[in-house]
Amino acid sequence: MSIQQRLAKLNPRQQEAVRYIDGPCLVLAGAGSGKTSVITTKIAYLVQVCGMSARRIAAVTFTNKAAREMKERVGQMLKGKEGHGLTVSTFHTLGLNIIRGELKALGYKPGFSLFDPEDAKALLRDLMNKDAQVDAEQINAVQHQISEWKNDLVLPGQALSHAADEDAQYAARVYEAYVRHLKAYNAVDFDDLILLPVVLLKDNPEVLARWRRKIHYMLVDEYQDTNVSQYLLVKLLMEERKTFTVVGDDDQSIYAWRGARPENLVTLGEDFPRLNVIKLEQNYRSTGTILRAANTLIANNPHVYEKTLWSEMGQGAPIRVVVNRHEEAEAERVASEILTRRIKERAEWRDFAVLYRGNFQARLLELKLQHYQIPYKLSGGTSFFSRNEIKDAMAYLRLLINPADDNAFLRIVNVPRREIGPGTLEKLANYATERGVSLFDACHELGLEQQLPARAVERLSRFTHFIDGVRRRMDEGDALVAIRGMLHEMDYEAWLYQNASAPTIAERRMANVWTLIDQLEKSMRRDPEESGEQIEAEESAETDDVEAAISRLVLRDILEQQAEEDDTDRVQLLTMHASKGLEFPHVYLMGLEEELLPHRNAIEAGTVEEERRLAYVGITRARQTLTLTLARQRKAFGELMDCVPSRFLDELPPDDLEWEGRADKEDPDKKQARGQDAIAGLRSLLG
Ligand code: ATP
Ligand code: MG
Repeated sequence: MSIQQRLAKLNPRQQEAVRYIDGPCLVLAGAGSGKTSVITTKIAYLVQVCGMSARRIAAVTFTNKAAREMKERVGQMLKGKEGHGLTVSTFHTLGLNIIRGELKALGYKPGFSLFDPEDAKALLRDLMNKDAQVDAEQINAVQHQISEWKNDLVLPGQALSHAADEDAQYAARVYEAYVRHLKAYNAVDFDDLILLPVVLLKDNPEVLARWRRKIHYMLVDEYQDTNVSQYLLVKLLMEERKTFTVVGDDDQSIYAWRGARPENLVTLGEDFPRLNVIKLEQNYRSTGTILRAANTLIANNPHVYEKTLWSEMGQGAPIRVVVNRHEEAEAERVASEILTRRIKERAEWRDFAVLYRGNFQARLLELKLQHYQIPYKLSGGTSFFSRNEIKDAMAYLRLLINPADDNAFLRIVNVPRREIGPGTLEKLANYATERGVSLFDACHELGLEQQLPARAVERLSRFTHFIDGVRRRMDEGDALVAIRGMLHEMDYEAWLYQNASAPTIAERRMANVWTLIDQLEKSMRRDPEESGEQIEAEESAETDDVEAAISRLVLRDILEQQAEEDDTDRVQLLTMHASKGLEFPHVYLMGLEEELLPHRNAIEAGTVEEERRLAYVGITRARQTLTLTLARQRKAFGELMDCVPSRFLDELPPDDLEWEGRADKEDPDKKQARGQDAIAGLRSLLG
């Protein structure tokens, strides 16, 4: 399809937004109205009609998933070299690129490391424990405060004057030490990815000029969720040319807790008086019923800009509200329904998305999906099984139960270091292929001595003897004792310390490994109902148990890897926050309960409006059907606590809802008492 044909498919307002290139442009419109479509078409328009080089264009969006989707959409429009050098990324990746290009100006050495929030927390714990024993809550509070300062562009030297009370003053002192240590480790944290470039561009006119020469046009999706430093990054880069397009929807601002400033929409108009504001009103995504529900819900929030959204997609099916006995029944229901609906609706797995408020809600669902062998992809939340130390430990476990597992062998033969180099491994691999045996078995073969120097053979056989010894101990005695003993004997912990940039990081990684072994132990004594498997014969030998348990863990590992590698046809599991900008034919929103959605913290902090926007985002992801689920009871402190249906359910048009499993009208007093229980119960769950 040519760009002209693509343009012709857009409505007149969208076309105007694409064609307007002489100055700053803001598209302000509700969900599903084609804002992202404007951005993708405009990139192609700039290249194909305006003749701009793709490497001069930077498009920025909020999540990696959204960036990937946008890249895909643009990729379909730009042919061959046309798209060369185009930047489509998150703000963080754009910042990372600037840092990479300006290491010297920033005073960093090449090969710097990026601390994820967990790494950063470990460093903070270290620093804070120097003064006095601190608990996790204090560390979280300080981490949050530092992040807030960084997002608001408050530097360590200024933080003290911004500190209102003693706690904040303490945080300001930790902030100063934290930044100093990061620099010493040659490391940056996530917030630095925006902060460092902004400070550099502000203070260094040469660098600024360089990047202004590089980027001629910027496009920003989900603009309502930019924070102060992100906006400054855009402003610094575009102040001169004034050539950018930002699109956003104030009703979808859901990242205030991470420093997002929806008022950036207003600031933009003040900073760029010639801003061309374009509004879109037709929704192309959802059925009339879904759209009406979204509009009715969000009408409960105050509005700066009035927007009306309409759709030509027909009324569609009513919205189902499914009340379940407890959280497990809820997960079971969603999983089994997807299984049957896929066939009934002639849909694919990928047509289904399950959205929830917090990542912890996914755990039960994952088990149920695994039980039904439904392929799924879990987005967001760092996957436990993708951590390096867990991959190492898993490789040991795999090799213990299956010496023929060459991948496992290769991963750990030199971890910890055993002076077995790539040259040795290459010869070993050739020899093993020739003999048709596994790498592990090849180490035992006499003929190997003709291929390799004696020293190398000796090192290899020391390794295999070590593994064989552990296997023997597993067979003869307590398998878990043998596995734990193995980790001690090879001093995996020392290896972690050697390889971590800070001792606390090594500590945490070792703790992760022990967690894995604990999981293995639990899995051997597993609750058969939970794993969805038959109870094994009682007399089955212990070694069988450990092998089965390891296999189960490995299987999970493989599932995870596949999920990382391809998400072609899988049910999508993601938080409502992560679902921004995406769309799916069939959407399940789980846990529509007070304290969960709206979240307890938001109720307490009086920020229910933001939770309402979050629900609005969730609802507007659905194209054809929407199912809302909730549980009457949820587990907390090992006990079932009663839950109250979310207030948002009352704010939806009653005639569009089809209830299932609703209890008879409750006595309001009883409902109130239950609410109290739920508050106490969910407190622990939600942390
Ligand atoms: P959100 O606020 O959720 O990010 P959005 O405003 O970015 O939504 P898009 O994702 O761009 O909306 O578009 C929603 C759907 O409508 C997409 O499937 C898109 O292909 C389709 N669409 C957009 N514009 C048109 C149009 N003019 N004609 C037909 N379909 C369109
Ligand atoms: Mg969008």
